[in-house]
Amino acid sequence: MSSPVFSGLRTPRRTTRQIQVGKVPVGGHSPITVQSMTTTKTADVEATLAQIYALAANGADIVRCTCNEVEAAEGLARIVPRSPVPIVADIHFQYKLALAALEAGVQCLRLNPGNIRKAEHVKIVVREAKDRGVPIRIGVNGGSLDPDIEAKYGQTPEGLVASAQRELAYFYEEDFHDVKISVKASNPALMIESYRLLADTVDFPLHLGVTEAGPLPGGLVKATAGIATLLAEGIGDTIRYSLTADPVEEARAGRQLLESLGLRERVGLDLIACPSCGRAEIDVIKVAEEAQDALRDLKIPIQVAVMGCVVNGPGEAASADLGIAAGRHRGHLFVKGKVVRVVPEDEMVSALVAMAKEIADTSIDEVLSHADSGAAAEAEKDRRLLLGEKGDDANHSEERVELIRKTTA
Ligand code: SF4
Repeated sequence: MSSPVFSGLRTPRRTTRQIQVGKVPVGGHSPITVQSMTTTKTADVEATLAQIYALAANGADIVRCTCNEVEAAEGLARIVPRSPVPIVADIHFQYKLALAALEAGVQCLRLNPGNIRKAEHVKIVVREAKDRGVPIRIGVNGGSLDPDIEAKYGQTPEGLVASAQRELAYFYEEDFHDVKISVKASNPALMIESYRLLADTVDFPLHLGVTEAGPLPGGLVKATAGIATLLAEGIGDTIRYSLTADPVEEARAGRQLLESLGLRERVGLDLIACPSCGRAEIDVIKVAEEAQDALRDLKIPIQVAVMGCVVNGPGEAASADLGIAAGRHRGHLFVKGKVVRVVPEDEMVSALVAMAKEIADTSIDEVLSHADSGAAAEAEKDRRLLLGEKGDDANHSEERVELIRKTTA
């Protein structure tokens, strides 16, 4: 339905083994997946399931839940059979809780090698996971390295990778290779270099993330800096945004990143909007937010543009499937750059939503075939009037330059 997304990533994806997290393949040639983590008490089964459903509806392919107490493991036993996506149990410190999570039927474990340190404990978990065909993520965190590794390497790429390698050695002793690995750090530069080094040394699928990235918007920027850089280099098989926010934002961000890089097919809206300027005929920020709120839940895989003026809007957003541009108190609805309707300004957003639904129900060609015959002429009239009123230089730059010269003469 929507135009194909250009994916010009030059570097081919790194070849890895493939593992199976429940029904979801990770690594190999399988699609890069999105993960998130619940923030509810896992023992609260209904609250946790509600969050898992919300995460799945917003793009998460796999969800992790903490398993930090026996009640959490018992909760997992009730959650797993009702979950729409595979569940990973997050284990720290207590290897027996990993055994309990396996008993609960989880589809993957995450072990932190920095805090389950006894080789024999790790191997007991590995043997049990192997018997059940359950994969394990070795989840190294820069902030919780083994003390001896930290003393030797510090928080460096070599230190993070050494921690993963030590855990892998225990796994190899049990002939266990059903593994994915993460080497996260809160510093994106350290995280990037750690994954690069790891990718050079193992062929297991890699789970990417910038840990403790923080609240929006800074957290999004840091996480994207790390994850997107690696994806562009062909590194990464599954991703998680670790944001101090509603985890639904993590799922949305992960999905949006993969879609924007052309690494997953678009399933939801891609809203583009002009940054606004002196020509804007509307409050672009407000209208773009209204359009985003109105269209987000429709899950229509199209690109929609909100443009502040008809002078440049339809042309600059000609590749969008659908868009609206403002001019002289009217909204100009355009499809693939062609104006199909002109509506009063206060109907802009509702007309945009109605047309998005129409495209979803029929097709772009169908909508174009029913375009208002006079719309393009009306739009051109508004465009010319605005050009006449504001001229080519809407910011009146030359007049301002003249004034500056007079002031400083
Ligand atoms: S020229 Fe028009 S479309 Fe471009 S930024 Fe300014 S208001 Fe937006």
